[in-house]
Amino acid sequence: MDTAYVYDPVYLEHDLPSHPENARRLQSILHTLEREEMLERLKLLEPRPATVEELQRVHTPSHVERVRRAAEAGGGYLDPDTYVAPRSFEAALMAAGGLVRAVEAVLAGEVANGFALVRPPGHHATATRAMGFCLFNNVAVAAQAALAQGQVERIFIADFDVHHGNGTQAAFAQDPSVFYFSTHQYPFYPGTGRWNETGHGAGQGTVLNVPLPPRVGDAGYAEVFTELVWPLAERFQPDLLLVSAGYDAHWSDPLAAMNLSLTGYAWLGRELVHMAEQLCEGRIVFTLEGGYELDVLACGVLNAFYTLLGDDTIADPIGPSPRRERPVDDLVARLKKAHGLN
Ligand SMILES: [Zn+2]
Repeated sequence: MDTAYVYDPVYLEHDLPSHPENARRLQSILHTLEREEMLERLKLLEPRPATVEELQRVHTPSHVERVRRAAEAGGGYLDPDTYVAPRSFEAALMAAGGLVRAVEAVLAGEVANGFALVRPPGHHATATRAMGFCLFNNVAVAAQAALAQGQVERIFIADFDVHHGNGTQAAFAQDPSVFYFSTHQYPFYPGTGRWNETGHGAGQGTVLNVPLPPRVGDAGYAEVFTELVWPLAERFQPDLLLVSAGYDAHWSDPLAAMNLSLTGYAWLGRELVHMAEQLCEGRIVFTLEGGYELDVLACGVLNAFYTLLGDDTIADPIGPSPRRERPVDDLVARLKKAHGLN
């Protein structure tokens, strides 16, 4: 069965060249996928816009309307970091709808797995506001759509973007049917994602936050995955894995200070694909979040496709971090205890 990618040129029309989250990010990814003859190994899924009903499972009508009106008025900023361009509303609808489409295709058995190459990103967007370069929360919209279809009962969202996905966590913190896991630099934007934010109400225990100090790299992330993510995913028994794939935890990213290499990133992707194979018949869909060093971003996505195809190739032209890595043993021990893993 095929590995799919979602893409549409409208994703390039959400653009502000002077902003780090600009259309060149996706152009760089596509250029690399073409150069490495990857696209011909994949099935293109053409996206559709998210419906009003799909959006409103996550966002208030007034938030959706605010994004629409800002775009219609020619664009501007919805918060100090988050721009809207004239075509951003269409792009954002197609970003959320594109991920919904990819999830539908995987659940229908039309494709094995996939990666939605969408912009704008989504994991910071909350029910009521755009923030952190995000307009609509693509992964939350897609998870709610999958649950509403009734084909899955439990979804595990893994977010390895360097920033905490505050919007995604808020969408599901009280929901026992969605597990949200995030590794992120901390303290850092947006300020949420403390180790003791573990969900509440019926969702108590279905949030795993791993707030990392700067300079944690391949070994530290591997320890987090082995000691925490694997056992908690096994305990949760998901029917579907969604990955908020941000490549800004790479050591050369201009916005953050973590120490992952492309090889380390490829390993994380491989572990998640193995988790999906072991726990939910391989059903896994990646979606693009951050990543602002263009070659890293492109190779990171290329490596995710190798992994989704079951190909052992890893592209790492940039190599390991020159900085010494920081250990995470104490944090991992504290988190194991907090999540009842001792
Ligand atoms: Zn990020």
